[in-house]
Amino acid sequence: MSLTWSTPAKIRTQAEDRALRTPALSCTPASALNDIRSGVRISREAALTLIRCSDADLAELLAAARAAKERFKPGVITYSRKVFIPLTNLCRDYCGYCTFRRNSGDPGAHTMSPDEVLAVARAGEKLGCTEALFSLGDKPELLFPEMRDTLRHLGYKSTLHYLEAMCELVLRETNLLPHPNPGLLSAEWIARLAAVSPSMGLMLETTNESLLAPGAAHDNAPDKVPAKRLRTIEDAGKQRVPFTTGLLIGIGESREDRVDTLLALRDMNDRYGHIQEVIVQNFRVKPAIPMAHWPEPSHGEMLRTVAVARLLLPEVNIQAPPNLSAPYYEELLDAGINDWGGISPLTPDYINPEKPWPHLEQLRLRTEARGCTLSQRLPVYPEFLPALISKPGLLSEKLRATADDHGMARLVRAA
Ligand code: SF4
Repeated sequence: MSLTWSTPAKIRTQAEDRALRTPALSCTPASALNDIRSGVRISREAALTLIRCSDADLAELLAAARAAKERFKPGVITYSRKVFIPLTNLCRDYCGYCTFRRNSGDPGAHTMSPDEVLAVARAGEKLGCTEALFSLGDKPELLFPEMRDTLRHLGYKSTLHYLEAMCELVLRETNLLPHPNPGLLSAEWIARLAAVSPSMGLMLETTNESLLAPGAAHDNAPDKVPAKRLRTIEDAGKQRVPFTTGLLIGIGESREDRVDTLLALRDMNDRYGHIQEVIVQNFRVKPAIPMAHWPEPSHGEMLRTVAVARLLLPEVNIQAPPNLSAPYYEELLDAGINDWGGISPLTPDYINPEKPWPHLEQLRLRTEARGCTLSQRLPVYPEFLPALISKPGLLSEKLRATADDHGMARLVRAA
């Protein structure tokens, strides 16, 4: 499978073009928010003004974002009850913030067997989970001969062939719905995985190409070229595959880069309508990573980014992982999120293992204290379900069995 990527310079040009096409707002935070309240679509200039706002203006920004959330999904915050399946932690990339990846032969390097995958999925099913989140390194077999041997032993040509088979296994044998996050995908692989999973994901992270430079976060991470990631997101859009993506803040990008990343996702959603969810994830420092001494983004940076994401994408689900902002959950609600993401009663967050997921009862109480009910969704959001259910096949059957009348999770428990 060969892919041709658009040139990195294209991203900047598109952002500039967009700014030129958008009517300028008189840009103080107050005037930008007034225009938004009266229905003007937020421009790049207004978004930049808001993401740079002072502490004195922050409360008004958050109030506007929370109001936008309530117009979109009033009175409810969702989450997905999931198990985390780290199919392989071998990865050919070396992201400076990653604690998940291993080289072949490293302590903890592991590729799960089909029996291990099924055991985790069945244990999650007993606990009422409805999502099997497959997280894995990107194309490890291109770097590690040992991974090629493992795949040959398992009977698969590539990690993606193995992932496809494991998604199909979980779909067939359990009531869990797979949600794969395998890294870059070709159009062909998007189609193959979409046959065995209702949704999939790839974090855009940032449109800032300079993070690929020596010593930066994406130095030696060939799969983190923004244009390549945008290509995967666009190919999913052309196939109308419900897609989860997002940005990672605090890895060396600027506030302007965050706005441009959100605008790139808004452009995608304008064209294809397939972005089901945008995650705003904050970098958390960990020992033994190349960025161990990197400063974390402040709560203020996180809240401004979440709020601007909500205002730029008023009809897209906005998520922020609660475990990465503990104990300040309520502030994320105030900034306009409508989803807590995947929460597991069984498996740790293998990407941020030092940050445990909150207890679901605690999350429910704190969500209710902010005036919303907590509701369990499927890995695919309800607004995307009808198109999937209308197609014949195993995936459709499983969705019908797992969704309730509102497209949320029917609480199916194994005997
Ligand atoms: S963040 Fe993903 S792509 Fe980067 S090193 Fe970790 S597993 Fe690999």
